[in-house]
Amino acid sequence: MRLAAYDGGRIGIVTDEVIVDLTDLCGTPAGSWPPISMLRLIADFETLRPEIERRETAEERRPLSGVRLETPVAWPNKIVAFPANYQAHIEEMGDGNVISRFNASGQGFFLKANSSLSGPSDPIRVPNIEGRETHHECELAIIIGRGGRAIPASDAARHIFGYSCLVDVVVRGKEERVMRKSFDGFCPVGPWIATADEVEDFHDINLQLRVNGAVRQRANTRDLIVNVPQMIAMASSVMTLMPGDIIATGTPAGVGPIVPGDRLEIEIDGVGRMDLAVLADHHDPHPVWHKPG
Ligand code: MN
Repeated sequence: MRLAAYDGGRIGIVTDEVIVDLTDLCGTPAGSWPPISMLRLIADFETLRPEIERRETAEERRPLSGVRLETPVAWPNKIVAFPANYQAHIEEMGDGNVISRFNASGQGFFLKANSSLSGPSDPIRVPNIEGRETHHECELAIIIGRGGRAIPASDAARHIFGYSCLVDVVVRGKEERVMRKSFDGFCPVGPWIATADEVEDFHDINLQLRVNGAVRQRANTRDLIVNVPQMIAMASSVMTLMPGDIIATGTPAGVGPIVPGDRLEIEIDGVGRMDLAVLADHHDPHPVWHKPG
């Protein structure tokens, strides 16, 4: 099942090339603030499931091409992100001689600002900071269903609602990682949530990122250092996971710069594909970017 947000906070189920409206099941009107309709649908999913399945074949359907898709979880409680979670990426970042404290198994995770979320129809805006590169990181997003604290890895699968494509955009440099990764639009997620049952084995998911048609990153989740259930266990050992929380699972090798005019495509087997424009940001950079670290 594919669940999407569209047209100003509406929620729908996507089948083939059509979308059926589910907004009225979510308990909050489309366009209300904060945009929590998808959170409600995820939290109440088991109760709503029979009606959602009934609507998959409903009459009132619209062609997918006639709607504007938005980021599926617009207002999560948090975005948990795992750095240094593929060995080949650690090596390309110049930390080749890694011992475990420098990879995700010993370093843990960070948070990315929720306000950096954007959707499949939104451009990535690259800030114009002299001497700096803005990089793409191709990542599988886990969407949490049932929340919880101290979830053992052996039980983690039951807490996964689904998956999405996520680009962890970052300005490379010396500043705090959260700041470099939290510009508006630096966290494209979409094009929808593919529910957990759409993916046969979360230890075997292919992901790929292309820039202007050329493959930059290609990987499989079997190469994760901290794997999918272990990430849920680690995150929930610190914080209570909530329905709709997003986990960015880390990027494989092949990160590189994006510049205005580029087209970025992210594709994850069994999940979906997004084709994103890269544009210039028109804000003036703050002097912090030019101070020594
Ligand atoms: Mn990342």
